[in-house]
Amino acid sequence: MSALKIALVAVDGAAYHYDRPYSYKIPDDMALEALPGSRVTVPFGNGNKRSRGIILSTADGDDTPCKPLLSVVDKEPLISESMVSLAFWIKEQTFCTLYEALRLMLPAGLNLRITKIYTVCRDIPNETYAMLSEETRCMVDFLLRSRTPVTREKLTQAAGLEEKSPLPDILVQQGLLFCEDGVLDRSSEATARMVRLAINENEAQGLLEQQGELTQKQKSALKTLLDVGAATVREVMYFSGVSVSVVTALVKKGIIEQYEKRVFRDPYKNMIKGDKQRDVLSPEQQKSYEELFEQYKTKKASASLLLGVTGSGKTQVFMRLIEDVRADGRGVIVLVPEISLTPQAVSRFYSRFGNDVAVLHSGLSLGERLDEWQRIKNGGAGIVVGTRSAIFAPIANLGLIIIDEEQEYTYKSEASPRYHARDVARFRCAKSDAMLLLASATPSIDSFYAANSGKYHLTRLESRYGDAQLPEVLLVDMKQELLSGNTGPISERLAQELDENLKNGRQSILLINRRGYNTFVSCSQCGHVLNCPNCSIALTYHAANGRLMCHYCGYSSEQQTNCPECSGSFMRYSGTGTQKAEESVLELFPKARTLRMDMDTTSGRYSHEKILEKFGSGRYDILIGTQMVAKGLDFPGVTLVGVLSADQSLYMDDFRASERTFSLLTQVVGRSGRSVYPGRALIQTQTPENEVLRLAALQDYDDYYRSEIALRRELLYPPFCDICEIGFTGIEENAVRSAAADFFERLKAAVFASDKVPVRIMGPSAAGVVKIAGRYRYRIIVKCRNNRKFRAIISELLCGCGKSKIYRKIAVFADVNPLDIM
Ligand code: ADP
Ligand code: ZN
Repeated sequence: MSALKIALVAVDGAAYHYDRPYSYKIPDDMALEALPGSRVTVPFGNGNKRSRGIILSTADGDDTPCKPLLSVVDKEPLISESMVSLAFWIKEQTFCTLYEALRLMLPAGLNLRITKIYTVCRDIPNETYAMLSEETRCMVDFLLRSRTPVTREKLTQAAGLEEKSPLPDILVQQGLLFCEDGVLDRSSEATARMVRLAINENEAQGLLEQQGELTQKQKSALKTLLDVGAATVREVMYFSGVSVSVVTALVKKGIIEQYEKRVFRDPYKNMIKGDKQRDVLSPEQQKSYEELFEQYKTKKASASLLLGVTGSGKTQVFMRLIEDVRADGRGVIVLVPEISLTPQAVSRFYSRFGNDVAVLHSGLSLGERLDEWQRIKNGGAGIVVGTRSAIFAPIANLGLIIIDEEQEYTYKSEASPRYHARDVARFRCAKSDAMLLLASATPSIDSFYAANSGKYHLTRLESRYGDAQLPEVLLVDMKQELLSGNTGPISERLAQELDENLKNGRQSILLINRRGYNTFVSCSQCGHVLNCPNCSIALTYHAANGRLMCHYCGYSSEQQTNCPECSGSFMRYSGTGTQKAEESVLELFPKARTLRMDMDTTSGRYSHEKILEKFGSGRYDILIGTQMVAKGLDFPGVTLVGVLSADQSLYMDDFRASERTFSLLTQVVGRSGRSVYPGRALIQTQTPENEVLRLAALQDYDDYYRSEIALRRELLYPPFCDICEIGFTGIEENAVRSAAADFFERLKAAVFASDKVPVRIMGPSAAGVVKIAGRYRYRIIVKCRNNRKFRAIISELLCGCGKSKIYRKIAVFADVNPLDIM
């Protein structure tokens, strides 16, 4: 008799407080396929519900009784054993379940199609139909009636059979039914309509839990999108089993939005790889490259930071290094922030490395993402370029990971698993003796600190490539403007500079960190501010559709003529958003050709790329936009950058606000004068005396770092400690508050009981925005040392929440070193 084998399985749907590897017997006929990294179905829980799972490991069994696996889905494992170990690490670091962690490593959508999906042959001859058994006829009728494919579960149910019944398989063999395993119709994908969430993931989660807001079908579609980020409309219909009207309804509600698909297809397809002349590195670039290559050659896990001013040509250094790593037969992952993953940027890689490049990004359809993922897994592509989740790409024999603009917030996941791509990169590099290269003009304080203390190797590019110079930057005092009678958003000096640029045929970029027209509407009689009914945040007036909109939950309402509080009829519209800024520019310069870029213009008819293409073509004079215009753009014609107000981001209630402001200003200023014409930049502010602004104007990262790191040390903030945020959300404010209070007490007790865990706990308080999409938000902030011992305490407390009544309707999470405290 062969030895009994068992599989340890991560099961989908296991709640955090009882999540662990579960043992299942491997039936003999599954022995060859039941390997670590394979997807399986298993009976789970009291009702033995058929659940999805992934095998973590296999072992020899003993007499302990356990249930058998129901099926193995994959012919060969999808996840390598080293990635399985990464999943354990992610669970331990971010307090998620094993299955949640493993899902990160599967291409989006793959986990959705674990069940076989059935359709029917539409033209069954009458004679044949007449001969069918009662049960078969039930299934056929059921399929004929339903317009979307049907799962095995539903199909067998319709015929009153058990799900295990072999009848569907027999009918498939006979050609009456078709069975698909996620085969998608790819015919129209190049032009497919895409949809994505228009609200953030937490809000979407909230909507799913709320009663009455959405229909069951709408929830199903929303859940699919929450899972995969973005997909074609057809894919959403297919995977959620809904019709197009359900998708349309969600779009109408402002919960999801349609956009045009980005086309990432290789623009140099017909070129032979390496056809394009390789750029010769400047001496400074050459020196950095050589230093980095030295690091790489040690073949030991290492981390380096490339600090290069804007326009210094960091990408050229990357490419040179990638060439060596590929020649060495090892794989490469390049992460770029969401915003700068444009077809232009990707084409630089394609033209240099041809088909060896694979792109992973949520702007692709699920089908395309799956194709790319498989190409990487099969070794058909050795260089992955992508956004955050590409850090999990199945690259074998990893040699190098590059994270460009490493300080960007999009590298940290704000939904469970709350990982930072940089940490995952460090883990992967350590496991494969690979090199991590972080790059930026304004590294995060944490990374630069690590470089200064010798943990990272540091190399710098101090000057722009070629003859280009860094722009000259001027701070403009907007208080002074007001005193001299200018109430508009554009100072006299900025108007002058814009005028000069228009006369000389040069281009300008204006940054305004608010979309919409006005930033808020209030009653001039009683001061009442119009707020979103679901969120504790002011509504923004949008001139384009004449509506008041909430940027958090997508709520919108008609413009109001009277105050709902005092019925006063003078509503005041204040603050400047992108729309109003554009209008003000046009008032001053009626002939200027302006383009606006913000979430409103990029989701609709004009996509992000089209706007950039238009601006790049030189047919427009002024680009006005939100953060989107600040980063990564490389337009030689731009010689003026204006920041309409630097104050908004500076005075946020968050210790990272200044770091973020400095980085944003440096980035946007860095768009100016990147080529032969010298550039200039104006930063408008109410507080020109502010130190951060002064240093940003000087573009002096080192000085800024020195002042910021001193502050962090004094006030005890990272990198001198870690911060753990524990968040509580729920519909009833009192319940949320008492859950937070209960946690606080338990945390204090646990810390007290375990000796020498140095922490400072800031008691429960309401979040900055206390209510979003109808859910109240409270938080506890802990300054701590993020080590195993501390995480064990938090993990145990979180498990306790799962078992306690107090938390029954409350969602609790812990986030270590969040970039945005809620
Ligand atoms: P960064 O990312 O550091 O801001 P980029 O990589 O975008 O800078 O480079 C700035 C500009 O200089 C780009 O237009 C790039 O093509 C050009 N450039 C940089 N290095 C070289 C080089 N060695 N040869 C030719 N062009 C270069
Ligand atoms: Zn809202």
